[in-house]
Formats: sequence, structure tokens, C-alpha cells
Amino acid sequence: MATHARHILERTFLTARLVHKHCISRSAQTYHFDFVLEDVADFPFVPGQFISAIAEDRSGREQTRAYSLASAPAANHFELCLNRVEGGFFSNRLADLPDVPIGAAVRVFGPNGFFTLREPLTDSILVATGTGIAPMRSMLQWLFPQNGPDRSQGKQTWLVYGTRHATELYYRDEFEALAARHSNFHYLPTLSRGPADWTGLRGYVQDHVAKIVEDRAKRLGQPVHTPASDPATPAAQPHFDIHAYACGLSPMIISIRDCLKHYGWHRRQIVTERYD
Ligand SMILES: Cc1cc2nc3c(=O)[nH]c(=O)nc-3n(C[C@H](O)[C@H](O)[C@H](O)COP(=O)(O)OP(=O)(O)OC[C@H]3O[C@@H](n4cnc5c(N)ncnc54)[C@H](O)[C@@H]3O)c2cc1C
Repeated sequence: MATHARHILERTFLTARLVHKHCISRSAQTYHFDFVLEDVADFPFVPGQFISAIAEDRSGREQTRAYSLASAPAANHFELCLNRVEGGFFSNRLADLPDVPIGAAVRVFGPNGFFTLREPLTDSILVATGTGIAPMRSMLQWLFPQNGPDRSQGKQTWLVYGTRHATELYYRDEFEALAARHSNFHYLPTLSRGPADWTGLRGYVQDHVAKIVEDRAKRLGQPVHTPASDPATPAAQPHFDIHAYACGLSPMIISIRDCLKHYGWHRRQIVTERYD
């Protein structure tokens, strides 16, 4: 309790000014936002973290919502990706921000959260559905910067991205370009309701994650199923050569956990962020 109270006292509230907003999927009503923070030159954070936005609702009650930072750290600038939620308070408020004239203000604090790449860096399976792509985009921009040295250390990185329709594959061009530039980055979009002419992957993310795990184990000559971790073993020092990072709504997160537990993965190898 005391720690919590201290944390609140130490919060620094900042004003984020909207620089640009555009709709990236009409069907899903998803928007991409560029913000610049006032009064700070720098906004350091670890890719995968989120920012908390605050506003008063109609009854004057303060509401706080978390939004993953969708870009890598860059001076006092950050980007968000969010979709409207039916009957939702904050998502619709942000989606309705006027983009002309620019400069609408949002009160925020952060960065927050522990959904970050584990160290030392290992092979990584990034799994996202919907706007769960936001923290993955931040991690990928950091691992494979457009200007600057590659930070991936040659580790294999898969992005398994599930949506219903191709119109909801946010940032598709960026990820395709990234995969073309880096042979150790693999972009695997999968549609659960793809049209007949969709030639890519179909079905749910967990099916493709399972295939990655099995193919990789075979390629490396490792057992596909590792012995289930002993809960009595102290988890402080385990060594892993791969992690999975999953972000989205609970049913997907649960499916990914179940899928990887089936292969004997340790719970610390599975890093998750739930949006609901
Ligand atoms: C760590 C973290 C990071 C997040 N990052 C993002 C992000 O980058 N982009 C993003 O779009 N969202 C993100 N979210 C979800 C976000 O914080 C809000 O929950 C979401 O925008 C809905 O808020 P709202 O005020 O509009 O809806 P509310 O007024 O809180 O809820 C309205 C109704 O919608 C339901 N609901 C709440 N959240 C969702 C949801 N995500 N999808 C469907 N139904 C929902 C509620 O159960 C309720 O019935 C994140 C959540 C967490 C915890």
C-alpha cells in the first residue's frame, strides 16, 4: 500500500500534443497517432512499454487507460495505435480528437509496464492480434532500426499476426519491407476469415506458433517437447534460447500459453500483455 501511494506521488503528468492522426483501417476503425510531449526533450522508454492517458468522464470522474507505445524511443515523440470500442470512453475520445488544427492535448504519465524483450536477447516469437501489434512495432523498430546499427544480434524473430480480414493487417507494408531487408525477421500474417484469393496463412495464431516451435526444434536438432519445468526448481536462473511475447485479448493469450506449455516451455519464456 505504502509503495503504491509513493508511486502515485512520484507520477509526473505530461501533456502530449497530437501532431498527426490517420485511420489505418476503416472496417476496424483503427487509428494511428503521432504525439509530441511538451516540456521534455526526451521520453526514454523500453520498447513494449505503455503510456497511461487520463481524462475526466462526463460525471467528472478521472479515467485512466493504458496504450502501448507503438514506436521506438525517439526524443520526445511517440506513436499509438488504437481502435474504437463500442460504448467505450477513452478509445472513442482519442479517435475523435480533431487532427485539424493540430495540437489537441492529452494528459499522460509513464512509461509503464514490463512487457519488454528479456535479456539476454534470444530468438523471439512475437504474437499479436488486432491493436496488440502496437508494442511489437516498437520492439521491431528498436531491433531493426532504419537508421542505425541492427540490434537483433542475428537472433531469429518471428511476427505472427492474426486478424480476421486483410484490411486489419496494420502496418503490413512496413513489416513486409522489414522482412525483405532482414533475413532473420519473419513476418507471418494469418487471416481467420481470409477471402478466396488470399494466398497467405489462414487460421489462428497458435497453430502457426506451434509450427515455428516444431520446425525450429527439428532444425536445431532439439527435442520438440522439452521436459515440463519442475515448479519446485527455483526459477531465478533458467537459461532459455527462445521467448514468446504475446499481446492482445485474453482468449488469444490463453491459447498461446496452452500451446507453449504443451511443448514444455517454462512460464518465464512466455511474456504476455492483456488488453482486456
Ligand atoms: C497494458 C495495456 C496496453 C493497452 N494498449 C492498447 C493499445 O495499444 N491499443 C488499443 O487499442 N488498446 C489498448 N489497450 C486497451 C485500452 O487500455 C482500453 O481498454 C480500450 O481502449 C478500451 O477503453 P475504452 O475507455 O474505450 O472502453 P471502456 O469504456 O473501458 O469499456 C467499454 C466496453 O468495452 C469493453 N472493452 C474494453 N477494452 C476493450 C478492448 N480492448 N477490446 C474490446 N472491448 C473492450 C469493456 O469490457 C466494456 O464493455 C491496452 C490495455 C492495456 C491493459
